Amino acid sequence: MTPRVADRLNALSESQTLAMARMSRELQARGIDVISLSIGEPDYDTPEFIKQAAKDAIDDNFTHYPPVPGFPDLREAVCTKLKRDNRLEYQASEIVVSTGAKQSIANVILSLVNPGDEVIVPIPYWVSYLELIKLAGGKAVFINSSIHEKFKISPAQLEAAITPQTRMFMINSPSNPSGAVYSKEELAGLAAVLERHPEILVLSDEIYELINFEGSHSSLASFPSLRDRTIIVNGVSKGFAMTGWRIGYIAAPDWIARACEKMQGQFTSGTGTISQKAAMAAMLASPEDVKWMKDGFRERRDLVLGMLRKIPGIKVDAPDGAFYVFPDVSALFGKQFEGKSINNSTDLCMYLLEKARVALVPGIAFGDDHCIRMSYATSPDRLRTALLRVHQAISDLRDPE
Ligand code: PMP
Ligand code: GLU
Repeated sequence: MTPRVADRLNALSESQTLAMARMSRELQARGIDVISLSIGEPDYDTPEFIKQAAKDAIDDNFTHYPPVPGFPDLREAVCTKLKRDNRLEYQASEIVVSTGAKQSIANVILSLVNPGDEVIVPIPYWVSYLELIKLAGGKAVFINSSIHEKFKISPAQLEAAITPQTRMFMINSPSNPSGAVYSKEELAGLAAVLERHPEILVLSDEIYELINFEGSHSSLASFPSLRDRTIIVNGVSKGFAMTGWRIGYIAAPDWIARACEKMQGQFTSGTGTISQKAAMAAMLASPEDVKWMKDGFRERRDLVLGMLRKIPGIKVDAPDGAFYVFPDVSALFGKQFEGKSINNSTDLCMYLLEKARVALVPGIAFGDDHCIRMSYATSPDRLRTALLRVHQAISDLRDPE
C-alpha cells in the first residue's frame, strides 16, 4: 500500500525542541558525548512529598477512570493555589486538568479558533503555538520583538496587530524561549488595549510562573475587565520538576472550561489518576517548599551569562525567568568553518552540535532567526563544559576570504 498520511499532518512541523532532543539522544546512543541543552526540562527529580502522594494513590486504588476535567479535589486545590498565590477567585467548575499544559493549550485552540480566525502571537513564541493554530485552521499574526526590547511587545504593537478577524491574543510570561517577564505595569498597558476590543480572548501561558527571578508573577487575568475572557494555562511540569507526570490545567470562564472538557472527552478522557493525586500535593504545597529549585536555576543562569558574555559575537541579556537564555548570534552569520558558511540560527546549531557536541535549538523554531536557545536546566559542571566547548568552536570560525 502507498503510505499516505492526512493532509493536516503534512502541514504540521515536528516540534523542533523535541527534534533536537531526539538527535542528541541518538548521538549519545552511538557513544558520542553530546551535552544536550536543547529540551526545556528541569534536571531535578520530583520532590519526595509529591512522589509519596503518588505512592499513596496507588495503594488507595485510584486506578479507575477519573472525571474528564480532573478529580474534584484536585480542581479545588488549583482554586486554592490561584487564590493563595495569585489572588484570583475561581470555582472548581472553571478548572480543567489535562495531560500537560501542551494538551491544555491544544484544547483551548481547537475549541475556540475557527478556520480563518486570527491569533496574535508575539515573537519569539513557544514552538507548539504555531502548529496548534495551524491545526485549527487559524492564522497566526506575529508581533516582532528583539533583544533591544528585552523580547517584550508594546501596547502600540498590540493595537496595530488587531483586525476584525482577531480571535485571540497569546502571551507567555515568563517566556519560553526568551525568559522575558512582563511586570504588572507592562501588562496594564496591554490590558488597556484589550479593553478597547472586548471580543478578543486572551490565552495566558503561565507554566514558568514559579521560575521568576525578579518581582512577583502577574497575570492578565487579574485585570477585572479581562477576567472573563482570559484562559490561564499552567501546570506542574516546570515549577515542580514533574515533566513526566503530564499534568497541566486551565482556569477559564465556565463556557470555555465546558468546551475544553468536551474536546478532551473525545481525545484522552481525564488524565492519569496517579499523576492527578501527585499534582494535588504540588498545588497544596507552598511555593516556598520548591523555591530551592528556582534558586538553583538562578545560579546557573548567572554562570551561563558570565561565560556567554566572554564569547565574541554573542549578545545576551539577563533573562528574568524560566530556564533559558536566548542570545542574539547574528553577528556570527557569514563566518565560515572549513569553507562552509554559517548563515542562520540552524547552521550555527548544526555546527555547534557537530563541532562542540552541544545541542541547542535554533531561534527560527521560535520565529527569530537571529538567536539560539540554550536551556540551562542542567548541572553547573555540564554547563561549564558545554560553554567552554561552545566558546572554542565559535573561536574556530573564520571570516570569509
Ligand atoms: N508552554 C510552554 C511555554 C512550555 O515551555 C511548555 C513546555 N513544554 C509547555 C507549555 C507544555 O508543558 P507540559 O510539559 O506541561 O505539557
Ligand atoms: N517546553 C519544553 C521545551 O520547549 C519541552 C519540549 C516540548 O514540549 O516541546 O523544550
